[in-house]
Amino acid sequence: MIPFEYLRAGDPAEAVAAVAGRPGAAFLGGGTNLVDHMKLGVAGPDLLVDVSRLPLDRVEEIAGGLRIGAAVRNSDLAAHPLVRERYPVLARALLSGASGQLRNVATTAGNLLQRTRCPYFQDVTTPCNKRVPGSGCSAVGGYTRYHAILGASEHCVATHPSDMAVAMVALDAVVAVLGPGGARTLPLAELYRLPGDAPQRDTVLEHGDLITAVELPHLPFARRSAYRKVRDRASFSFALVSVAAALDLDGGLVRDVRLALGGVAHKPWRAARAEAELRGGPATEDAFRRAAEAELAAARPLPGNAFKVAMTRNAVVATLRALAEEGR
Ligand SMILES: Cc1cc2nc3c(=O)[nH]c(=O)nc-3n(C[C@H](O)[C@H](O)[C@H](O)COP(=O)(O)OP(=O)(O)OC[C@H]3O[C@@H](n4cnc5c(N)ncnc54)[C@H](O)[C@@H]3O)c2cc1C
Repeated sequence: MIPFEYLRAGDPAEAVAAVAGRPGAAFLGGGTNLVDHMKLGVAGPDLLVDVSRLPLDRVEEIAGGLRIGAAVRNSDLAAHPLVRERYPVLARALLSGASGQLRNVATTAGNLLQRTRCPYFQDVTTPCNKRVPGSGCSAVGGYTRYHAILGASEHCVATHPSDMAVAMVALDAVVAVLGPGGARTLPLAELYRLPGDAPQRDTVLEHGDLITAVELPHLPFARRSAYRKVRDRASFSFALVSVAAALDLDGGLVRDVRLALGGVAHKPWRAARAEAELRGGPATEDAFRRAAEAELAAARPLPGNAFKVAMTRNAVVATLRALAEEGR
């Protein structure tokens, strides 16, 4: 590990100024991803600005929704009574990730900004365009079981690893950011990028941009929502495929729906085509399958992950079917 300095920021403005003023500086949340990367040689910040103890650790009600501070720990968020009651999809997604010990430490912002688990990204002896732009993609033609089937590029086929982010994208979450130029908000779905020819950039954030909160809008039908994660082990394992869904039924019809997919793309994938297909139609298994297939028409699987297309379709159908049965 290379030497680095450590600063515990007193307030968000101080944290932003400290990182923005130094190209090699990075924010430190719980450190469960960044410190691993420092040990592996994947990241080498020369200054860590600790934002985990800023007064951004509250979950507050706002206009029927919730404002979640960036430093709220994953365990606390999953256990929060209003999250469990109003957004069960989020509680389930959080609890499906990592381990109890990790969730006790991991923060909301750090979870959103955790980096891909692509083995080539984490192995500094192999080429990786995300780690070293222009060096090549070892996954193309390599091990691709966990890689993207949607929205990838020839430069990068990595997937975004966060479970929590998939649920938040389905819930139309909005991210609050404090940057060197002031405060702004943006939809979480627009925070993330597809790899294109710049896979080193996971998000649209600039150096020095601090996430201060995530806002979940009022969405009454999210009380009937679910997260389904398909993985190689029952715990302590990242998603091969995951589905976050909320369903609003009007008799046997779908009045409204929210659907997002994990493990399939460089970002949490909002399944807008499937949602459009479902709205106003029958809440039947056939309709759920057609909607999933419409979304997956754009899938371009790799030799090692063609199974993910059927797996995603089946996971979408199973999740929506369970929600529909719950509503009858
Ligand atoms: C063994 C293991 C298994 C795991 N399994 C899963 C899993 O199944 N599902 C899952 O979703 N996750 C899983 N994780 C990942 C875990 O959820 C993340 O490591 C954790 O959420 C990161 O949060 P953190 O606060 O520790 O982030 P950190 O490591 O502190 O930071 C991560 C990134 O976010 C940046 N950052 C932190 N706070 C801010 C802020 N406020 N504003 C701007 N940038 C910020 C940092 O600079 C860094 O780039 C696993 C991790 C491990 C080690």
